[in-house]
Amino acid sequence: MSWNTATTVLSHSQPLASALDSESPHASVPHTKRFLEYWTADEDFRRAYDTDPVETVTRHGLQVDAAKLRSIIDPNGIGADSDEAFAYRCFIRGKLQFRNRYRVEGAPSNPRFAIWRQRQMQRVYWELGPVRSESVVHAPICFELSKGCTVGCWFCGVAAEPFGGNFEYTAENAGLWRGILEAVRELVGPGAGCGFCYWATDPLDNPDYEKFILDFHKILGRLPQTTTAQPLRDLPRTRALLATSARLTHGVERFSVLSVGQFRRIMEAFTPEELTMVELIPQFNSNASPKASAGAVRERLVKLNGAGVPKTSTRDTEDGGSIACVSGFLVNMVERVARLISPCSANQRWPLGYVIFDEFHFNTPSEFRAGVEAAIAHAMKTNLDSHDPVRLNPLLKMERHPDGITLSNAVITVKMASQIEPVVLPECIERGALLSEIADTRAERCGVPHLWTHHEIDAIWRAGVLDEEPFVRPRAAQ
Ligand code: SF4
Repeated sequence: MSWNTATTVLSHSQPLASALDSESPHASVPHTKRFLEYWTADEDFRRAYDTDPVETVTRHGLQVDAAKLRSIIDPNGIGADSDEAFAYRCFIRGKLQFRNRYRVEGAPSNPRFAIWRQRQMQRVYWELGPVRSESVVHAPICFELSKGCTVGCWFCGVAAEPFGGNFEYTAENAGLWRGILEAVRELVGPGAGCGFCYWATDPLDNPDYEKFILDFHKILGRLPQTTTAQPLRDLPRTRALLATSARLTHGVERFSVLSVGQFRRIMEAFTPEELTMVELIPQFNSNASPKASAGAVRERLVKLNGAGVPKTSTRDTEDGGSIACVSGFLVNMVERVARLISPCSANQRWPLGYVIFDEFHFNTPSEFRAGVEAAIAHAMKTNLDSHDPVRLNPLLKMERHPDGITLSNAVITVKMASQIEPVVLPECIERGALLSEIADTRAERCGVPHLWTHHEIDAIWRAGVLDEEPFVRPRAAQ
C-alpha cells in the first residue's frame, strides 16, 4: 500500500550552512581557504592572479603554491589534485557531512514533534527541490535576543525590523532564560542543542550575547552557531567569541560580508588561521551568494512593479525560495512571543519564507512550557482525521496517467504509482475531498476497503505532498 517514486532533479544553489564537528584540518587549509575567498569575492585579486599568480599570492601573504591551486578554481577540474587541494576537499566534505548529521541530531525526542518535523522536512523537499532543501537543517528551536536588527541589509531574507532593543542579561532575565532552556531540554531533548540564538537579528547587537550562549551551552550541551554581519564592530569581542567557539566546540561560525571593502578589512584584521572555521558569505556577490526572493528581497521586487513576483501571487504561482532553517519554535525573548514555524517557498501568504503554524506569548518559564506543550498537542498534526481535507500542496501540479500520477514543479518531477487503485484517489485529491469522502467513494466505485485508503493517504501525508494550510492555527493566520 505504498506509492513508488522515480525522481528527476533540476538544480538551484544554496549557501552552505551551519557547523562542523571534525578533527583539526590540515595545516594548508587556512591558506587554501583564504585563497578561494579572495578568488570568489575580490575581482581585483582574480585579475592580478591571472596576470601574475606567484606575485599575487605572495603580496596577499598566502602560503600556497599558486600553480597547485589551479585544479580547485578551474570549473572543469583541470589540473592534477595537489596535497593542498586534496586537504581542502576533505575539509569541505567534513563540513557537508556535519550538516547532514546536524539534521539528524536536531531531531526532537518528543515523538509527536519528531513526526511533525520529519513531515515538514519532506514537504520542504518538494517545495524547494532536492538541492535547495539539502542545506536546510530544520533546527528545532531558535531564539532572538533582540528586537529587530541594526544592520538593515537590503537582502534580508527574513525582513528584519529596525532595531528595537535587547534582551538584557539582568538577574530576572537570566532566570527566565535559564528556565526556558531547561523547559526546552525537557520537551525537545538533546536535539535542542542544534538550535541557535539569532534570526531576524544580528547576535552582536546584544552586548550580552556571549552570556546567553554560555548558558545555552551549559544547559543544552552545545555552543550555538553564530552568524554576524558585524565582525569588525568590536575586534577583541569577535576574537574572544571565536576563541570560545574553538574551546567549546569544533563549530563553524559565519561572517556575512556586505561589501568588497568590508571583505578586504576582514582579511587585514584576521589571519587565515583565525578564520579557518569561519565561513565568509560574500553577500555583495550574487553569483557566490544567490538571494532567495523572500523577506526584504521580495518586498523590493514587489515595489519594483512586481518584477519577479507575479502580481497575482498566490501560494501556487510564486516560488520565492527561503532562507529559513527552523522546523520548530522561533522565540523572541524581548517580545516574549514564540511561534511554531517551518520553511516554505516565499509567496504572498508567507512572504518571509516560512509558515507560522502557531503562536503564543509567555512571561515565565512555566507559561513557556505550557505554550510549547499546547503547540505540540494541537498544532503539530501527526495524522489526518476523517473530516480533514486531503488536497495537494499548491506548489505541486498533478498530471494523471492510467497507471498513476506525476507530481511536478519547477524543481522536481516525480512519478508515483498506486499499488491499489490509481484513478479515483488522484481525482479526489485534486478536488480536495475529505478523507472520509475519499474512502467512501473508493469503496463504492472500486471496492477498496476503507482501511486501505486510510493507510494509503496516511503514507501520502507523511511524504509531505499534501497541503498543510488547513492545519495552521487561526491565531497565527495573517
Ligand atoms: S541579514 Fe542579518 S544582519 Fe542583515 S538585516 Fe537581516 S538579520 Fe540583520
